[in-house]
Amino acid sequence: MQFSDLNLIEPIRKALAEEGYTTPTPIQQQAIPILLNRRDLLGCAQTGTGKTAAFAIPILQLLNEERSKNPKAPRRIKTLILTPTRELAIQIDESFAAYGRHLNLRHAVIFGGVSQHSQVNALKAGLDVLIATPGRLLDLMNQGFVSLRDVQFFVLDEADRMLDMGFIHDVRKVITRLPERRQTLFFSATMPPDVAKLADTILHNPAKVEV
Ligand code: AMP
Repeated sequence: MQFSDLNLIEPIRKALAEEGYTTPTPIQQQAIPILLNRRDLLGCAQTGTGKTAAFAIPILQLLNEERSKNPKAPRRIKTLILTPTRELAIQIDESFAAYGRHLNLRHAVIFGGVSQHSQVNALKAGLDVLIATPGRLLDLMNQGFVSLRDVQFFVLDEADRMLDMGFIHDVRKVITRLPERRQTLFFSATMPPDVAKLADTILHNPAKVEV
């Protein structure tokens, strides 16, 4: 299978070619069609399998479709990606920059341990995609800088690590602020019972992909 078999728009195909990607990885082959069909996804996959592109590419394509219909619409956070560490958050942000470089979409990353100043400025400027670690997200939400009211795509990345790091409480708080009607993507390298239970409470009839 090639990227050309996945019904991707030209600006994304071009960006992937520029990245030097020729063939989709197994998780990309399986997940991209499911996500373009707007189904929830439970993905059992480690880092290194190409899982970031597996969710970033279809999300970019669907967001772009919507923005093309209404180019002047104000920027509201349509996609929230929660990830446990700042390193992962930065990597995901770089992936959105790379795959979305020919699209008119805005993304930013927020994480703790640094000044919130430039993060708040990015939020004020308006975003389509927000990538965040849970603590800083809640902090900025509590200060009124983030509204999750318009989120359509919610990605929980590395859910098992999130729980291991003690973020379950924060994650649950964030989830209560999301719209009920949304597409949810849940990724975890392992599925111990507490992770499976969390997946069960936030996914609706998910397609399951394991690599
Ligand atoms: P990830 O599992 O998302 O952390 O991705 C692991 C690495 O694989 C990253 O450096 C990506 O840039 C790279 N990658 C992802 N998809 C592909 C692909 N289809 N072809 C070549 N490299 C890829």
